[in-house]
Amino acid sequence: MKFIESSVGRIFIVRPEYGEDLLEVLREGVDRLGVRAGVFWAIGAVRKAVVSYYDQTEKRYVRLRIDKPLEIVSCIGNVSELQGERIVHAHIALGDRDGNAYGGHLEPGTEVFSTEVFLIEVKGPPLTRSYDERTGLNLLKMTEGGIRQA
Ligand code: ZN
Repeated sequence: MKFIESSVGRIFIVRPEYGEDLLEVLREGVDRLGVRAGVFWAIGAVRKAVVSYYDQTEKRYVRLRIDKPLEIVSCIGNVSELQGERIVHAHIALGDRDGNAYGGHLEPGTEVFSTEVFLIEVKGPPLTRSYDERTGLNLLKMTEGGIRQA
């Protein structure tokens, strides 16, 4: 196991507007608020959604479009950096009126009906990502034994 020790910074409560793109508003929000590293969660509802599934054999994302109103059962994610660019990584679980669940990696095209986001800034060493050959993913960079922030 590898780890980074950090601490809690500022806390923001964000309410995206009706019709906004959920992933875009999260990206713009962390930029505007100057959050370089953080964690967030959201609940609410969307008018439609786009999620993806990472195929571990093919090492590529497969998209799923769900064109109907859905509850956000849970949406969680984090904020980090890849080569100086801010990365918002979010996963979302959605439910329809019959209680069916959908979920995956949050993609652009997920349209807000009403959503409440709680964002917690993570203070300490920067959270950065780098490419991992085995998984084909940009994973959070760790050092053996972790980094301790005074
Ligand atoms: Zn993901």
